[in-house]
Amino acid sequence: MALVAENISLYLSGFNILRNINLSISAGKVTAIVGPNGAGKSTLIKVLSGDILPTSGGVLLNDKKLDRWPLEQRAKTMSVLPQHSSLDFPFTASEVVSLGRIPHQTGVQKDNEIVKEALDLVDASYLKSRFFTQMSGGEKQRVQLARVLAQIWEKEVYGEQFLVLDEPTASLDLSHQMLTVKVVTDLAKQGVGVVMVIHDLNLAASCADHIVVFDKGIIAATGQPDQVLNQELIGKVFGINPVIISHPNTGKPLVFS
Ligand code: ADP
Ligand code: MG
Repeated sequence: MALVAENISLYLSGFNILRNINLSISAGKVTAIVGPNGAGKSTLIKVLSGDILPTSGGVLLNDKKLDRWPLEQRAKTMSVLPQHSSLDFPFTASEVVSLGRIPHQTGVQKDNEIVKEALDLVDASYLKSRFFTQMSGGEKQRVQLARVLAQIWEKEVYGEQFLVLDEPTASLDLSHQMLTVKVVTDLAKQGVGVVMVIHDLNLAASCADHIVVFDKGIIAATGQPDQVLNQELIGKVFGINPVIISHPNTGKPLVFS
């Protein structure tokens, strides 16, 4: 079972934003999507999560077309963190995370336990009674991550579960970047398919089973980190002259621009 983009193309305002994208996100694996600004990464995430309909092609979630899924079942199966989630109400962190429990009928007591554990997991318990509108960028990001984790907290009966994250580490300090990586790799070990857009190539290399390199609306390369993070490809796609070495401890690629 997988989350699959089948030959997706998208034309918007006369531009080819996505061109013939074929991609399969496997359960139990971490797939990282990297690429320059404007490459189409967030647009692909919006198509994968059903926010935008592609001009052609389609998305399959566990072998069933996305638009055939009843919304509540889909929400329990796939949880999505957009790049920009605007929330201007003075909700506390606990209230924001409890939004992730809306599709569930598990009762207030159980939901409160899950909200507490989800906040704990992202090191945001201290924010539980604070207003979302008054938090720092990194705090907001962790609370939103807790919300999407709470949405797929329990195993469900509709097949494999997927977590779709658009730049979850963008505003985080180093230790919270590492924490996020740990949270998503632990989830993958439990069988969840994780796909995340991430700018830091070294962070991607440290946690991803697969890296997908996006460039101008197409997939420029896909494969394991050491296959994809090579000097020629990264140099060409990002317009830099990188130095790439092996991490002395892990052996994973390390990219210096
Ligand atoms: P990334 O997330 O890789 O930085 P995006 O997916 O946000 O890039 O955007 C890809 C390209 O599509 C950009 O050039 C952006 O300007 C363009 N784009 C996004 N949404 C629209 C839209 N609604 N109409 C026209 N162009 C759009
Ligand atoms: Mg983006």
